[in-house]
Amino acid sequence: MRLPLHVRILIGAGFGMGLGVLAFLVLGDSPALAGFIRYGTQPLGQVFLRLLLMLVVPLIFAALVLGVAGLGDMRSLGRVGLKTLAYTVCVSSIAVLIGLTLVNVLRPGAGLSEETRARMLSGAAERAAAITSAPAPKSGIELLVQIVPDNPVKAAASGDMLALMFFALMIGVGVCLTRTEAARRFEEAVQGLYDVSMRLIHLVISMAPIGVGALLFTLTAQLGHEILVQLARYVGVVLLALLLHQFVVYSLAVRYLGGMSPLAFFKAIESAMVTAFSTASSNATLPTALQVAEENLKLPSRISRFVLTIGATANQNGTALFEGVTVLFLAQFYGVELGLEKQALVLLICILAGIGTAGVPGGSIPVIAAILGLVGVPVEGLGLILGVDRFLDMCRTVLNVSGDLAAAVVIAHSEARGGR
Ligand code: ASP
Repeated sequence: MRLPLHVRILIGAGFGMGLGVLAFLVLGDSPALAGFIRYGTQPLGQVFLRLLLMLVVPLIFAALVLGVAGLGDMRSLGRVGLKTLAYTVCVSSIAVLIGLTLVNVLRPGAGLSEETRARMLSGAAERAAAITSAPAPKSGIELLVQIVPDNPVKAAASGDMLALMFFALMIGVGVCLTRTEAARRFEEAVQGLYDVSMRLIHLVISMAPIGVGALLFTLTAQLGHEILVQLARYVGVVLLALLLHQFVVYSLAVRYLGGMSPLAFFKAIESAMVTAFSTASSNATLPTALQVAEENLKLPSRISRFVLTIGATANQNGTALFEGVTVLFLAQFYGVELGLEKQALVLLICILAGIGTAGVPGGSIPVIAAILGLVGVPVEGLGLILGVDRFLDMCRTVLNVSGDLAAAVVIAHSEARGGR
């Protein structure tokens, strides 16, 4: 008898992490372990990740075109679109508020001894330099204008998911409005592209136990746990906030707005959560999320395709929360007093940043650099948290993806009740 896939993925994850920690403890810096990682687990994990990412562009395109076309008319599109936006803004606000409240109450960045601060800061400036020399993120109005791509192929090639989504949305609108035979055939062809991509995803995901194991082994076997200890209070606050949001806010949303038992929900989305954790990328998890929504949650595909593809880039509750906590933590660390007004500004920016941050590993980092500059906290502070960012990235991505699936449940439920 074969175990179900999500159990095998969990076993793969457990093995990968367990063996990785063991290898780190027993072999440490040995060349044999380095070689095994370099020529074994690292390429294996990368291939798995790239197979997932390979399918993202065709999927975003096909899922959104079909999602919009499936909604049938502009009124339903407007209604579902507005609901998705309203839900995203509300739940992101709650996420950032939870984070900001915890940082204010627990004050993880305050009251450190001079010695600890110096140890934490050593090397931070160099680590941050690599990022801050990157091109500055776009300003608000530029960001808005550039959501409309001047060249959809370029947008897809450079990973500009918001622009690609906009293009797909417009094609979907076009399909709705064009009542010709040829347009119907085009829609069918897009459906074909979607079906083929989903079939391939099945294949890729059936390799997930090995892929996920390899990714996690590579990470844990090279673990720098010292920095984790130094930043323990900060890491603790981020994790606590993420946990609260994941298990309290989503449970309430799914139960009262989605009419589903939270237990059943979390059980159904398990494989999406593990994939999010091991890839640290909402985009790479989109294929798994789509599959989970259709097969386990049994959501109507026109809703799940629309909400999940948009959500993979735009509904990032974990990212919004993390960005808020990090900015406030660094302000405390550097003794920069952020009054209520500045904190409200951080709140607002983080809600928007949750929409604008790319769903890729480390997508938050350039956004945080920009916010730090805006509220007057030294940007070098970023170097401080980079050492623990990968781990926190994995955790916040779980929240991002769970949040998309929760949103899909809520919106599908409200549509089923008559669209109000
Ligand atoms: N890695 C996150 C995601 O893909 C984005 C981030 O860095 O916060 O959802």
